[in-house]
Amino acid sequence: MVKELSEEEEIKRNITRVMATLYQRGLVSAIGGNVSARFPGKEEFWITPSGIFKGNLRSEDLVKVDLDGNVLEGSVKPSIEWPVHATIYKLRSDVNAVIHAHNPITTGLAMGGIPPKMITIEAVVFLRKVPVINFALPGTDKLAEEVAKAVKETTVKALVLQNHGVIGLGRNLVEAESIVEIMEEVSWMTLACLIAGRKELPLISEENIKLAKKIYGF
Ligand SMILES: [Zn+2]
Repeated sequence: MVKELSEEEEIKRNITRVMATLYQRGLVSAIGGNVSARFPGKEEFWITPSGIFKGNLRSEDLVKVDLDGNVLEGSVKPSIEWPVHATIYKLRSDVNAVIHAHNPITTGLAMGGIPPKMITIEAVVFLRKVPVINFALPGTDKLAEEVAKAVKETTVKALVLQNHGVIGLGRNLVEAESIVEIMEEVSWMTLACLIAGRKELPLISEENIKLAKKIYGF
């Protein structure tokens, strides 16, 4: 029982750390973005709250909900994006952490028709294919439905939400965090490359992708 409690506290501490990092890195605004995580196999998850400053959340600001959005623990409202998180956990037993951020460069480039491209080995290994989801209002079932269509494909780990932001899916929070950060890293590199005058991005070759698959086993 004591072990269970400390693991629960660790998940909550990690969520608040990730949220603060996203805020410090300029990937979410003061009340934007949301982060959730669950124990593998559980049909409930911890998620950040709605309408509270995200740069300095405490464990007690988090809410535990089930996959239908019923609040199981916590005294504040869960993020309005809980349906997106619940949808992903319902469809993907391999996913135990979901991060939604507002990566400005990734989102801006996607609006310009350039989603994250496979220009680094990290992009190849962590991002793979990045679907761009048609715009739907935040917090609506429509947005959750659009996300569901994309994440049914089990290789999908990263999404861009048109005119809105990004979603990273991970086996744990660090993996989801890496995915969100790599999307922005790749997007900055892409922007720099285009500003430098390249018309075509130099992608990692198919041959090197095959080799990377062998070496890193993904
Ligand atoms: Zn958002």
